[in-house]
Amino acid sequence: MPREEALRRLLSQVAGGRAGEVAEAMKDVAWAARKAVELGLTSLSWGNISVRVGDFVAITPSGVDMGEIEWTDIVIITMGGVKLLGLYEPSSEYRLHLEIYKRRRANAVVHLHPPFVTAFALAGRPIKPVLAEAELFLGGEVRVVGYAPPGTQELAVKVAEEMGDGKAVIMERHGLVAVGHTVFEALRVALVVEETARAILLSRCLDHKI
Ligand SMILES: [Zn+2]
Repeated sequence: MPREEALRRLLSQVAGGRAGEVAEAMKDVAWAARKAVELGLTSLSWGNISVRVGDFVAITPSGVDMGEIEWTDIVIITMGGVKLLGLYEPSSEYRLHLEIYKRRRANAVVHLHPPFVTAFALAGRPIKPVLAEAELFLGGEVRVVGYAPPGTQELAVKVAEEMGDGKAVIMERHGLVAVGHTVFEALRVALVVEETARAILLSRCLDHKI
């Protein structure tokens, strides 16, 4: 496919010896974006996903439906936020991804709008890992980061600080941010948080007090 070949040539120019790894990261990001929609963890163009390879960050594009993203749509930026490659602009939340990478050892960040987590985000309430397996996997409650406008450095810093060494945080009136050593792990964290949020809300229909 000519577009893929052209992209691979450009990749070797901008990423040199790491071009192969960066191409794999782009494929992982595109797969995770489509999978997030398939799993009901987000919809439309809401959300963004990235994978870090050294100084390079492969991130979803701005304004493209998550369920439609192909690996050739993924944008490459540096850890300094400079766009190196891509047909589109990077997600407007790229600052949030970079702030997290600067502060901790994580190779993947996902930001999604899972419906049940978003209910907690609207209410400004944390999610307790009440399910036995969620407690083991998440390690502690998923805290809420106070509201800041999407796409701002203010939001990026708040999220990265609140995340600390944790696996996920809720952004008030917005959605979820989860991290992992791989994008597969980060997506799994998002799914476990969403399943926990759903179980809590449904158990309240049975007058269970959580
Ligand atoms: Zn969002």
